[in-house]
Amino acid sequence: MPKFTETLYDAYGQAFRIDERLHEVKTDHQHLIIFHNARYGRVMILDGVVQTTEMDEFIYHEMMAHVPLFALGRARRVLIIGGGDGGMLREVTRHRGVAHVTLVEIDRQVIDMCRTYLPKHSQGAFDDPRVHIVIEDGSNFVRTTHDRFDVIISDSTDPIGPGEALFEADFYAHCKRCLTPGGVLVTQNGVAFMQLDEVKTTSRRLSRVFDDWHFYTAAVPTYVGGIMAFAWATDNRALRDTDVESLKSRYRASGIQTRYYNPEIHRAAFALPQYLRDAVGG
Ligand code: SAM
Repeated sequence: MPKFTETLYDAYGQAFRIDERLHEVKTDHQHLIIFHNARYGRVMILDGVVQTTEMDEFIYHEMMAHVPLFALGRARRVLIIGGGDGGMLREVTRHRGVAHVTLVEIDRQVIDMCRTYLPKHSQGAFDDPRVHIVIEDGSNFVRTTHDRFDVIISDSTDPIGPGEALFEADFYAHCKRCLTPGGVLVTQNGVAFMQLDEVKTTSRRLSRVFDDWHFYTAAVPTYVGGIMAFAWATDNRALRDTDVESLKSRYRASGIQTRYYNPEIHRAAFALPQYLRDAVGG
């Protein structure tokens, strides 16, 4: 049976048996593969890096969508940058209070292929009347848009290739410009144990732009190497400490059934292991 070996790291990589190759294409921006694996279901690869799998995507998408949305409790306008597989859109549009979602994806073919081969990710969210799809580089979008958002979710690839621009100081500064007062930016920031330098770089860059910045974590099995770090950035210092009772009442009122997120794990996710606390300056 053929295998796919991830090439994110030079000296180490996870391998998947390819039980069925569903699609492969060189898009205008990336090399895309979607295959079926007996353990993880359908898997999408971009430029040799695992992006998402049917079996564990719920962890990542629930934690990146529900932590900012339940913390804020009043978000009406949400911006998703990247997120071409549709999983983040699915979780964000489950919030009935959200009136408008803009998804800015650089690669239309990712959306098209995921609608076809990963339908369980979006579950129709691309067709939600509240959703507005923009095919553009997210860093250009935040630099030029006149729109404002309560929550910005940067659901990008790693800082290689087209994703690199979404980890630059300029991008964070323009995200701040696009946030409504008290709004919050969250970004995927890699697996802390394996990509600690990326966490250090992001913390330095965010600290120059936002009044409050931190990280929260969740372990997503196919983002190998332990806990994944999500960056949190806002001028609303109280937001990160939203109390568990408020989170519980919002969670109950939402009627959203989750498989990973709950108010207790929301709070616990901001507690960092010491090596990570030291790396981001305690
Ligand atoms: N969960 C994955 C992770 O943590 O690595 C991310 C998945 S999602 C498929 C990543 C998306 O970011 C891809 O669809 C890719 O095309 C998109 N992307 C990469 N660079 C971008 C950019 N500069 N602007 C907008 N979208 C971008």
